[in-house]
Amino acid sequence: MKVHYTGGVVNPGIVADHAGCVSLVQSIQRGHQDGNGWLDIGYSFVACPHRKVFEGRGLHHLPAANGPGLNSGHYAVLGLVGNAGLVEPTDGVLHAILDAVEYVRQHGDAGLEIKGHRDGYATDCPGEPLYAWVRRGAPRPGGDGGDGDGGDGEQPAAPPFPGRLLRYPPVTRGEDVRTWQQQMKARGWDLDVDGAYGASSRDVCLRFQREQGVEADGVVGPVTWRLAWEAPGS
Ligand SMILES: [Zn+2]
Ligand SMILES: [Zn+2]
Repeated sequence: MKVHYTGGVVNPGIVADHAGCVSLVQSIQRGHQDGNGWLDIGYSFVACPHRKVFEGRGLHHLPAANGPGLNSGHYAVLGLVGNAGLVEPTDGVLHAILDAVEYVRQHGDAGLEIKGHRDGYATDCPGEPLYAWVRRGAPRPGGDGGDGDGGDGEQPAAPPFPGRLLRYPPVTRGEDVRTWQQQMKARGWDLDVDGAYGASSRDVCLRFQREQGVEADGVVGPVTWRLAWEAPGS
Protein backbone atom coordinates (compact mmCIF):
# COMPACT_ATOMS: atom_id res chain seq x y z
CA MET A 1 0.00 0.00 0.00
CA LYS A 2 1.22 3.47 -0.84
CA VAL A 3 -0.10 6.38 1.20
CA HIS A 4 -0.92 9.73 -0.43
CA TYR A 5 -2.21 13.18 0.46
CA THR A 6 -4.05 15.64 -1.76
CA GLY A 7 -1.09 17.96 -2.28
CA GLY A 8 -3.47 20.92 -2.18
CA VAL A 9 -5.54 22.86 0.31
CA VAL A 10 -7.93 20.78 2.42
CA ASN A 11 -10.57 22.79 4.24
CA PRO A 12 -10.26 21.96 7.98
CA GLY A 13 -14.05 22.30 8.10
CA ILE A 14 -14.40 18.76 6.77
CA VAL A 15 -13.37 17.46 10.21
CA ALA A 16 -16.76 18.59 11.50
CA ASP A 17 -18.73 17.80 8.34
CA HIS A 18 -18.60 14.51 6.47
CA ALA A 19 -20.58 16.03 3.60
CA GLY A 20 -17.46 18.11 3.01
CA CYS A 21 -15.42 14.92 2.64
CA VAL A 22 -17.87 13.64 0.04
CA SER A 23 -17.67 16.88 -1.97
CA LEU A 24 -13.88 16.87 -1.78
CA VAL A 25 -13.59 13.27 -2.97
CA GLN A 26 -15.99 13.99 -5.82
CA SER A 27 -14.00 17.04 -6.86
CA ILE A 28 -10.76 15.01 -6.85
CA GLN A 29 -12.48 12.37 -8.96
CA ARG A 30 -13.69 15.02 -11.41
CA GLY A 31 -10.18 16.43 -11.64
CA HIS A 32 -8.71 13.04 -12.41
CA GLN A 33 -11.37 12.20 -14.97
CA ASP A 34 -11.88 15.54 -16.69
CA GLY A 35 -8.47 17.07 -16.02
CA ASN A 36 -6.17 14.06 -16.35
CA GLY A 37 -8.37 12.08 -18.70
CA TRP A 38 -8.26 9.04 -16.43
CA LEU A 39 -11.12 6.55 -16.30
CA ASP A 40 -11.70 7.16 -12.57
CA ILE A 41 -10.18 8.72 -9.48
CA GLY A 42 -6.54 7.66 -9.35
CA TYR A 43 -6.63 6.15 -5.86
CA SER A 44 -7.70 2.68 -4.81
CA PHE A 45 -9.28 4.07 -1.64
CA VAL A 46 -9.74 7.38 0.17
CA ALA A 47 -9.64 7.70 3.98
CA CYS A 48 -11.55 10.55 5.67
CA PRO A 49 -11.48 12.03 9.19
CA HIS A 50 -14.65 10.16 10.13
CA ARG A 51 -12.98 6.80 9.82
CA LYS A 52 -14.83 6.18 6.58
CA VAL A 53 -13.18 4.60 3.57
CA PHE A 54 -14.33 5.60 0.10
CA GLU A 55 -13.88 2.97 -2.56
CA GLY A 56 -12.02 4.48 -5.48
CA ARG A 57 -10.76 2.01 -8.03
CA GLY A 58 -11.04 -0.65 -5.37
CA LEU A 59 -9.57 -4.12 -5.35
CA HIS A 60 -7.60 -5.65 -8.23
CA HIS A 61 -7.59 -2.47 -10.32
CA LEU A 62 -4.49 -0.55 -11.30
CA PRO A 63 -4.32 2.80 -9.50
CA ALA A 64 -2.95 5.85 -11.29
CA ALA A 65 -1.36 7.60 -8.35
CA ASN A 66 1.92 5.99 -7.35
CA GLY A 67 4.24 7.26 -10.05
CA PRO A 68 5.42 5.65 -13.28
CA GLY A 69 6.26 1.99 -12.98
CA LEU A 70 5.03 1.72 -9.42
CA ASN A 71 1.30 1.58 -9.99
CA SER A 72 1.20 -2.12 -10.59
CA GLY A 73 3.15 -2.81 -7.40
CA HIS A 74 0.98 -1.03 -4.88
CA TYR A 75 -2.54 -0.08 -4.03
CA ALA A 76 -2.96 3.64 -3.40
CA VAL A 77 -4.81 5.10 -0.41
CA LEU A 78 -5.40 8.83 -0.12
CA GLY A 79 -5.61 10.34 3.36
CA LEU A 80 -7.72 13.50 3.31
CA VAL A 81 -5.02 15.93 4.34
CA GLY A 82 -3.23 18.48 2.20
CA ASN A 83 -0.21 20.76 2.17
CA ALA A 84 -2.31 23.64 3.53
CA GLY A 85 -5.39 23.92 5.72
CA LEU A 86 -5.85 20.48 7.22
CA VAL A 87 -2.26 19.18 7.15
CA GLU A 88 -2.17 16.84 10.15
CA PRO A 89 -4.12 13.59 9.84
CA THR A 90 -6.76 13.11 12.51
CA ASP A 91 -7.02 9.78 14.29
CA GLY A 92 -10.03 9.02 12.11
CA VAL A 93 -7.94 9.38 8.94
CA LEU A 94 -5.20 7.14 10.32
CA HIS A 95 -7.69 4.50 11.43
CA ALA A 96 -9.43 4.64 8.05
CA ILE A 97 -6.11 4.22 6.20
CA LEU A 98 -5.36 1.16 8.33
CA ASP A 99 -8.89 -0.17 7.80
CA ALA A 100 -8.24 0.07 4.05
CA VAL A 101 -4.87 -1.63 4.52
CA GLU A 102 -6.47 -4.52 6.39
CA TYR A 103 -9.16 -4.78 3.74
CA VAL A 104 -6.69 -5.06 0.85
CA ARG A 105 -4.62 -7.56 2.78
CA GLN A 106 -7.65 -9.75 3.44
CA HIS A 107 -9.38 -9.39 0.10
CA GLY A 108 -6.97 -7.86 -2.36
CA ASP A 109 -3.79 -9.93 -2.10
CA ALA A 110 -1.81 -7.01 -0.69
CA GLY A 111 1.46 -7.64 1.13
CA LEU A 112 2.65 -6.17 4.40
CA GLU A 113 4.42 -3.11 3.01
CA ILE A 114 3.11 0.37 3.80
CA LYS A 115 5.05 3.18 2.15
CA GLY A 116 4.64 6.78 1.15
CA HIS A 117 4.28 7.98 -2.41
CA ARG A 118 7.69 9.64 -2.05
CA ASP A 119 9.32 6.24 -1.58
CA GLY A 120 10.46 5.58 -5.11
CA TYR A 121 9.16 8.73 -6.73
CA ALA A 122 10.20 12.38 -6.48
CA THR A 123 7.26 14.03 -4.75
CA ASP A 124 6.39 15.67 -1.41
CA CYS A 125 3.47 13.29 -1.15
CA PRO A 126 2.13 12.24 1.37
CA GLY A 127 3.34 15.34 3.30
CA GLU A 128 5.46 15.47 6.44
CA PRO A 129 2.94 14.50 9.16
CA LEU A 130 1.51 11.55 7.26
CA TYR A 131 4.93 10.42 6.07
CA ALA A 132 6.34 10.61 9.61
CA TRP A 133 3.52 8.34 10.72
CA VAL A 134 4.30 5.88 7.91
CA ARG A 135 7.95 5.92 8.92
CA ARG A 136 7.02 5.12 12.51
CA GLY A 137 5.41 1.96 11.23
CA ALA A 138 1.87 3.29 10.74
CA PRO A 139 0.63 2.53 14.28
CA ARG A 140 -3.04 2.56 15.23
CA PRO A 141 -3.71 5.85 17.06
CA GLY A 142 -4.47 5.97 20.75
CA GLY A 143 -2.88 2.79 22.08
CA ASP A 144 -5.76 0.33 21.73
CA GLY A 145 -6.98 2.19 18.67
CA GLY A 146 -10.21 0.31 18.59
CA ASP A 147 -8.57 -2.71 17.03
CA GLY A 148 -9.80 -4.82 19.90
CA ASP A 149 -6.49 -6.17 21.04
CA GLY A 150 -6.45 -4.20 24.26
CA GLY A 151 -3.46 -2.10 23.32
CA ASP A 152 0.21 -2.80 23.36
CA GLY A 153 0.45 -2.17 27.09
CA GLU A 154 3.61 -0.09 26.83
CA GLN A 155 2.72 3.46 25.94
CA PRO A 156 0.00 5.40 27.70
CA ALA A 157 -2.83 6.34 25.36
CA ALA A 158 -3.27 10.02 24.65
CA PRO A 159 -6.53 11.62 25.74
CA PRO A 160 -8.80 12.44 22.80
CA PHE A 161 -7.60 15.32 20.64
CA PRO A 162 -9.60 18.40 21.71
CA GLY A 163 -10.73 19.07 18.17
CA ARG A 164 -9.15 22.46 17.75
CA LEU A 165 -5.60 23.51 16.98
CA LEU A 166 -3.54 24.92 19.86
CA ARG A 167 -1.57 27.76 18.34
CA TYR A 168 -0.06 31.20 18.82
CA PRO A 169 -0.65 34.03 17.94
CA PRO A 170 -3.17 34.87 19.24
CA VAL A 171 -2.91 33.09 22.60
CA THR A 172 -5.08 29.96 22.76
CA ARG A 173 -6.59 29.47 26.22
CA GLY A 174 -8.40 26.55 27.80
CA GLU A 175 -8.31 23.30 29.72
CA ASP A 176 -7.02 21.48 26.63
CA VAL A 177 -3.99 23.79 26.64
CA ARG A 178 -3.44 23.08 30.33
CA THR A 179 -3.68 19.32 29.71
CA TRP A 180 -1.07 19.51 26.96
CA GLN A 181 1.22 21.76 29.01
CA GLN A 182 1.00 19.42 31.99
CA GLN A 183 1.99 16.48 29.82
CA MET A 184 4.89 18.34 28.21
CA LYS A 185 6.11 19.39 31.64
CA ALA A 186 5.91 15.75 32.74
CA ARG A 187 8.07 14.89 29.73
CA GLY A 188 10.68 17.28 31.09
CA TRP A 189 10.05 20.42 29.06
CA ASP A 190 10.36 23.74 30.82
CA LEU A 191 7.07 25.61 30.52
CA ASP A 192 4.32 27.11 32.69
CA VAL A 193 1.13 25.11 33.12
CA ASP A 194 -1.17 28.12 32.89
CA GLY A 195 -3.71 27.11 30.27
CA ALA A 196 -2.45 29.82 27.90
CA TYR A 197 -0.68 28.74 24.71
CA GLY A 198 1.65 31.64 24.01
CA ALA A 199 5.17 32.13 22.69
CA SER A 200 6.85 29.83 25.21
CA SER A 201 4.39 26.98 24.62
CA ARG A 202 4.88 27.42 20.90
CA ASP A 203 8.66 27.23 21.28
CA VAL A 204 8.40 24.02 23.29
CA CYS A 205 6.05 22.66 20.63
CA LEU A 206 8.50 23.55 17.83
CA ARG A 207 11.43 21.90 19.57
CA PHE A 208 9.35 18.83 20.36
CA GLN A 209 8.18 18.55 16.75
CA ARG A 210 11.77 18.74 15.49
CA GLU A 211 12.80 16.10 18.00
CA GLN A 212 10.01 13.85 16.76
CA GLY A 213 10.74 14.42 13.09
CA VAL A 214 7.31 15.76 12.23
CA GLU A 215 6.59 19.05 10.50
CA ALA A 216 7.66 21.84 12.84
CA ASP A 217 4.87 24.42 12.60
CA GLY A 218 4.51 25.21 16.31
CA VAL A 219 0.86 24.15 16.22
CA VAL A 220 -0.49 21.35 18.38
CA GLY A 221 -2.65 19.34 15.98
CA PRO A 222 -3.77 15.71 16.28
CA VAL A 223 -0.33 14.21 15.57
CA THR A 224 1.65 16.51 17.89
CA TRP A 225 -1.01 16.06 20.57
CA ARG A 226 -0.80 12.28 20.41
CA LEU A 227 2.99 12.23 20.33
CA ALA A 228 3.05 14.17 23.61
CA TRP A 229 1.76 11.02 25.30
CA GLU A 230 2.79 8.20 23.04
CA ALA A 231 6.26 9.07 21.79
CA PRO A 232 9.01 7.37 23.75
CA GLY A 233 10.86 9.77 26.06
CA SER A 234 14.03 11.29 24.68
ZN1 LIG B 1 0.77 10.79 -3.99
ZN1 LIG C 1 -15.65 12.13 6.39
